[in-house]
Amino acid sequence: MPELPEVETVARDLRPRLLGARIVGARCSWARTLRTHDPEAFSEVIGGRTVVAVDRRAKQVVVDLSGGVALTIHLKMTGQLFVVPADLPMDPYVRLVVELADGRELRFRDIRKFGKVGAFGRDPVTGELVTEAGGAAVFGKIGPEPLAEDFTLRAFRGRLRGRTGRLKPLLLDQAFVAGVGNIYADEALWLARLHPLRTVATLRSADERRLHGAIRQVLGEAIERRGSSIDDYTAPDGDGSMQERLQVYQRTGEPCPRCGRPVRRIVVGSRSTHFCSWCQRLPAVDRRRARAILRTMTGNAIRTRGRWTDLPAGEGSVGLTATESARAAARARTERTRQAAATRRAAAREAAAGGDR
Ligand SMILES: [Zn+2]
Repeated sequence: MPELPEVETVARDLRPRLLGARIVGARCSWARTLRTHDPEAFSEVIGGRTVVAVDRRAKQVVVDLSGGVALTIHLKMTGQLFVVPADLPMDPYVRLVVELADGRELRFRDIRKFGKVGAFGRDPVTGELVTEAGGAAVFGKIGPEPLAEDFTLRAFRGRLRGRTGRLKPLLLDQAFVAGVGNIYADEALWLARLHPLRTVATLRSADERRLHGAIRQVLGEAIERRGSSIDDYTAPDGDGSMQERLQVYQRTGEPCPRCGRPVRRIVVGSRSTHFCSWCQRLPAVDRRRARAILRTMTGNAIRTRGRWTDLPAGEGSVGLTATESARAAARARTERTRQAAATRRAAAREAAAGGDR
């Protein structure tokens, strides 16, 4: 699912295309894409308005229109946005079309149909997007933007106080910090040398500092590289390249770029989690509590009498031979998944080709 860097890239690509454009109306072929209105009412609400800003909040694109209304676009698993001439043939995965007065259309393409688009008003006093006049703020429960200037180390430490629990689920908690998902949580923890099952209570001051810096560094680099095109994510100006720079995410069994030992995979809260058990040590107290999860670990380790033992990559043993073939099978599976996703992205670009490029 697109995370902060991917959504930021989409917003940046859309901005020059949409700023100043006047909206005529909208057509929607999958009503559940719309969060707030039925298709007819949605078209009426946005028709006649002009695009005045294109930004991002957390993992959503926010398109501000004249008259204090804004569209929120959540891409979810497979959502994609393209601005194309209205006469370009429609492809069957386009769920929502926003018609522009200049003969172009903003098309929301979404194979899996989990994406959501809403139209909200801005509170004239606070400037917040609200569900209705005097109603709840749309992003009221979302935590701070990690790349904002006021997300300082001090502010980060303040948010950690009163938190318990493990680092991986904490980073995925949008109320703690906005926009971090599975990819960048794993990458930030690896960069900070912190185990995903580490609990907040065991963090020392230096750990907190490294984690704060790592979150910002990883997200910043990912934006520079236009995000990670791993699944269906692509943007109006094309794919990202951050997937080539990921150090541990989906690299189970490959050597850790820091120490050369194999990257491990565990499942934390039903999410795949990738890390290096050598560089990201788990304190004994956390290790005892995490025993059940660590039992699910895959990678190049063997377990004897209840203890995990690190094996240098390539060292032979019966257990390792079995692990090797499992690793090869996993690699082949990953490669097939990657190929299928690349084919889908190419098809998406093909469908939007002849657009505004
Ligand atoms: Zn390592």
